[in-house]
Amino acid sequence: MAAEEPTTRRVQVAEHPRLLKLKEMFNSKFGSTPKFYVRAPGRVNIIGEHIDYCGYSVLPMAVEQDMLIAVEPVKTHTLQLANTNPLYPDFSTSANNIHIDKTKPLWHNYFLCGFKGIQEHFGLSKSTGMNCLVDGNIPPGSGLSSSSALVCCAGLATLAVLGMSLSKAKLIEFSPLRATDVRLPSGAVFVIANSCVEANKAASSHFNVRVMECRLAAKVLAKHKGLRWDKVLRLEEVQTKLGISLQEMLLVTEDALHAEPYSREEICRYLGISLEELRTQILTPNTQDELTFKLYQRAKHVYSEAARVLQFKQVCEEAPHNAIQLLGELMNQSHRSCRDMYECSCPELDQLVDICRLAISTGLHFCGHRDQWKFGAKGSRLTGAGWGGCTVSLVPADMLSSFLTNVYEAYYRRNSRSLALEKHSLFATKPGGGALVFLEA
Ligand code: ADP
Ligand code: MG
Repeated sequence: MAAEEPTTRRVQVAEHPRLLKLKEMFNSKFGSTPKFYVRAPGRVNIIGEHIDYCGYSVLPMAVEQDMLIAVEPVKTHTLQLANTNPLYPDFSTSANNIHIDKTKPLWHNYFLCGFKGIQEHFGLSKSTGMNCLVDGNIPPGSGLSSSSALVCCAGLATLAVLGMSLSKAKLIEFSPLRATDVRLPSGAVFVIANSCVEANKAASSHFNVRVMECRLAAKVLAKHKGLRWDKVLRLEEVQTKLGISLQEMLLVTEDALHAEPYSREEICRYLGISLEELRTQILTPNTQDELTFKLYQRAKHVYSEAARVLQFKQVCEEAPHNAIQLLGELMNQSHRSCRDMYECSCPELDQLVDICRLAISTGLHFCGHRDQWKFGAKGSRLTGAGWGGCTVSLVPADMLSSFLTNVYEAYYRRNSRSLALEKHSLFATKPGGGALVFLEA
């Protein structure tokens, strides 16, 4: 869970089937040999959902699935991108004039973000070109951050081509994050199960509306407490400015906000601004048309979820005898809050969480009358943005194989929609490694 410095490792490509296949495909695509390979892992968020953009820390863990790119620097100042998956078409552009069309969620835009990010960070006016073949196995749109793995991997490829070495300090500058190691209890594993509902973040407004509801809640809370609300953007700022605990912040929320949705007019009246000012100075283009905002529910989720992250870390540190039970309960509370307060779940995720958590199996075929036995996880919750995607469950290690069998039976085998995806839909995680550059030995 710590931010790791990308390291360079020498490998025998012939001994790694995935690298070998990539090398051969690269050769047939570009007629040359890759000079190196870079990888960046996907990640699963164990707890702390929808609070990062409110200023609070979360608890992600790298998974084994990753983005892999074979890279060859070229002298032509041309960037040529190809993908092992035919769903993602080839793309080529001048490396010195990168234009990112933000209106379209095209795969190469994620690559260009990583590429351009490095160019801008080092203030480079000219870049060397490169040929890249991308191979990813993180299921997209399922909350395991395939998109950020692609951005990171492209950035790493660009850095490696530029021959710049990363120092730890530079790494931290790229994303202003603080990382601490959290030791998870032994005797339990995290299992990821995909609901097989793909959440299309780029095409729906849910996400943008939630971000705006949090911002409006922060402003109303700040005003309630007599703070300068106009400068406040995030819920965390209100807590910090008041210098109080998350529990106290929850009491302030109860006091200041009501559960009925707020109309735009009510928000304007409370803040003493005009509708025009609300539209032009606070709302974003993609939230202009919203008529109501749920401020109480969103603030309550964020402050309680931020508190659960701290409690989760504390249980990991203190490692009491019932740690797995306590962590599971925090994960269950997190799901309930996501479902009822943040409204970022969906029926399939709720069903999958129920199956993982307390499903009672009646033997292999669920015929209903045999001895019932519990195979449940100690905790289970949606992970990632929600509205589809994956769940993460905390499962005692000695129950893992029956857990996997039973969830497979209950959710996947009976749900024909999932059949095509099932192979990559349910797996126990081993904490994965960090970003890496491979050179052929
Ligand atoms: P998430 O990050 O949760 O997986 P997003 O919707 O943010 O979901 O990102 C998914 C997008 O990332 C895909 O639509 C695609 O553009 C890009 N992507 C994911 N995997 C690959 C891949 N293997 N190759 C190229 N692009 C990919
Ligand atoms: Mg993403």
